Amino acid sequence: MDKKVVVITGASSGIGAALAKLLGNSNDDYQLVLGARREVLLKALVQEIESDGGEAIYQVTDIRQIAEVEKLAQAAINHFGKIDVWVNNAGIYPGNFLSDRQYDDWDRLIDTNLKGTLYGIGTALQWMIPRNNGQIINISSVAAHVVSPISTIYSATKAAILAINEGLRQEVSSKNLNIRVTAISPGFFNTEIINDIKDAKIKSDVDLLYAKYGISPDRVALTIKQAIELPFDTSWNEVVIRPTKEV
Ligand code: NDP
Repeated sequence: MDKKVVVITGASSGIGAALAKLLGNSNDDYQLVLGARREVLLKALVQEIESDGGEAIYQVTDIRQIAEVEKLAQAAINHFGKIDVWVNNAGIYPGNFLSDRQYDDWDRLIDTNLKGTLYGIGTALQWMIPRNNGQIINISSVAAHVVSPISTIYSATKAAILAINEGLRQEVSSKNLNIRVTAISPGFFNTEIINDIKDAKIKSDVDLLYAKYGISPDRVALTIKQAIELPFDTSWNEVVIRPTKEV
């Protein structure tokens, strides 16, 4: 069977790492190309997948740099010859109030969550359109739908991802391209994402929420895998996935 080549950004931890492990252990169905900034983690993950019989390579990638995103795609092409699925998963959540005027965090959020996702979409299209085949999966958030004052800019970037996801879906379908477009919007899943919060009060409030509701990111990985494995004529345009007990 033809293996699916899947590029995953933000594969060094959390949802991205869970997805890499799940696909890596899936009866040899997938060849994985893993991107993130922390090489030590990527290297260890590739070794783990290979020792379990899976196939994966990594490319150190900062998605804020288009040249690095292009290198990630090139690594996929050089090693596996094609890109079937591109998962724009990398993202950050520094968590602060607008009145804190943490301009550096505002820039990081927009450069990572928004521009990084756009660079991923552009690069994926560059390789998928000539083959007239592919799937682009964009990780948004419940925060795109439910805004809180400690997630205003994060929510804005995630709502923008939904708008971009829908515009992309309409564009490729109106051009009659065989490219699927899917947004996944998770609620609280226990990952490293909240470790970036610097404000002690916000951090302890968010810690409490995750302690109360958070469950394994494996569940999001499973949902992404199901979106990839749906019959190709069917497309989940957005999946909102919460822990059952999340309010
Ligand atoms: P993690 O912090 O565990 O993972 C984030 C990943 O993004 C890491 O692998 C990190 O790797 C990578 N990353 C961050 N910045 C960059 C960058 N500039 N270039 C390349 N990679 C980068 O968190 P999650 O797994 O939770 O996050 C994955 C996605 O899920 C994010 O888009 C997040 O917004 C979304 N999400 C998560 C929720 C949750 O509750 N966990 C809820 C809703 C959405 P490295 O540091 O090595 O670069």
